[in-house]
Amino acid sequence: MDNRRHILIISVLIVGLAAAFFPLRLLAQTAEPAQGATPAPPPVEVTSDPNAPPIPRVHAVQDGENLTIIATNFGVTVEDIMAINNLANGDLLQVGQELIIPGGTGEAIATAYAVAPGDTLAGIAAAFNTSSADVVATNRLIIDNPPLIVGQQVPIISRSGSAAARPVHGRPYLVESGDTLLLVAARNGISPSELAAANGLASDAYLFPGQRLRIPDEEAIYRDLPQGWVDVRLSAPITTQGSTLSIFVENLMPGTPAGRFGQQALHFSPDGEGYVALIGIDAFEEPGTYDLEISGGDERGLWAPLRIQLPLVEGAFDTQYIEVGEALDGLLDPEMRASEDEFLKTIYADFSEDQRWEGIFQTPLTTTIVSAAYGGRRSYNGGPIEIYHTGIDYAAAEGTTVLAPAGGVVVFSAPLELRGNVIIIDHGLGVMTGYYHLLESLVKPGDNVTAGQPIGRVGSTGLSTGAHLHWDLRIMDITVDPALWTQQAFP
Ligand SMILES: [Zn+2]
Repeated sequence: MDNRRHILIISVLIVGLAAAFFPLRLLAQTAEPAQGATPAPPPVEVTSDPNAPPIPRVHAVQDGENLTIIATNFGVTVEDIMAINNLANGDLLQVGQELIIPGGTGEAIATAYAVAPGDTLAGIAAAFNTSSADVVATNRLIIDNPPLIVGQQVPIISRSGSAAARPVHGRPYLVESGDTLLLVAARNGISPSELAAANGLASDAYLFPGQRLRIPDEEAIYRDLPQGWVDVRLSAPITTQGSTLSIFVENLMPGTPAGRFGQQALHFSPDGEGYVALIGIDAFEEPGTYDLEISGGDERGLWAPLRIQLPLVEGAFDTQYIEVGEALDGLLDPEMRASEDEFLKTIYADFSEDQRWEGIFQTPLTTTIVSAAYGGRRSYNGGPIEIYHTGIDYAAAEGTTVLAPAGGVVVFSAPLELRGNVIIIDHGLGVMTGYYHLLESLVKPGDNVTAGQPIGRVGSTGLSTGAHLHWDLRIMDITVDPALWTQQAFP
């Protein structure tokens, strides 16, 4: 199983990089030919590709110039120059100040970079052969070490005369006692001279424990992450109320990472070469910028903590005004709701490391008519909006078979006052699904279920105004939109 395939790689977005990257790599390789290497192909000019998009150039402000003069000279608009340079109305230009001119076709020295998870200002500056101070100046930042938000566009003026970033190539490797160039090269299926050349070492160099090497790898590009980290990927660069976020990290040293998103603790589980954690975003979570912090579990303290700032945006939810009859009125008692929620939490907040599902979830009914979507703000009998709809309601005839959406183990099957007959399935990694208001259950706690297996029948038990299935999906007791899980594979 390869879950990582499903994780959107938060990649470096660089103007013209797609076209310019391959030739640049050839240039880099020919600069320091490895011993015994076959003759290298001739260098390719970065700007030689006629299909490459125009690369912005940089203009140093001259005495007597203003934005209108500069824009006219370069045939662009004042607004475009202001936008790419983060200029505000009324900003004064200073002589010598460097401005990025968008859409030009001149020297390849300016670009825009999208901040990726784990990026630091120093790391970005290094990748573009420039200094942190220059990046601060170009972006007109007031403080020297600003928090970087994932997905944020940062204009960069590169000192190397190249607009492309210099990604770090090769898998990081930490030398252990007894390692030699020959041994490490043999274990990685490369020649010792190739390994030496990739690390700027003589072919007879001694290695010492704790030394950092890069194992050359044509396919993979590793970003300049803080010490101890090999890779960090998020399923999306921004997150939304009610959504699920998946994070994959790979670390150099053994040990399970730990972390938090806002106040929420993260639970990492092994996944391929690294670890994954799922984060549920509550539909009432306040929009804003949240800290995602991950630290290593290594007692030697070799892992620098990873700090990522992630934007959280508002979801699109409706408001539902629900009238319930007198007979059900007593069930609206907030204390009763709170005690039932508290009880369910003891089940939903349990974490099991085994991932019992694969791929996307099926819908729990073969025919689905959504009568109430996830996240709708709810008012009962004209009362205040203090709760939202925690799952999806499907309208269905009483007795309709309910199916398990994915593999898991049944952890609860019993009646509750508000939710009627309830089944809860634990899918692992903190992910559980709940089925409410059932007529009857066909499973019992401890049963293993597979995707598509009948588990119960639709009913109208508990606080319900007619036959329907309520479907909850929770991550460590945080309810998220189950519909997303039927469209996208997590983690
Ligand atoms: Zn419902």
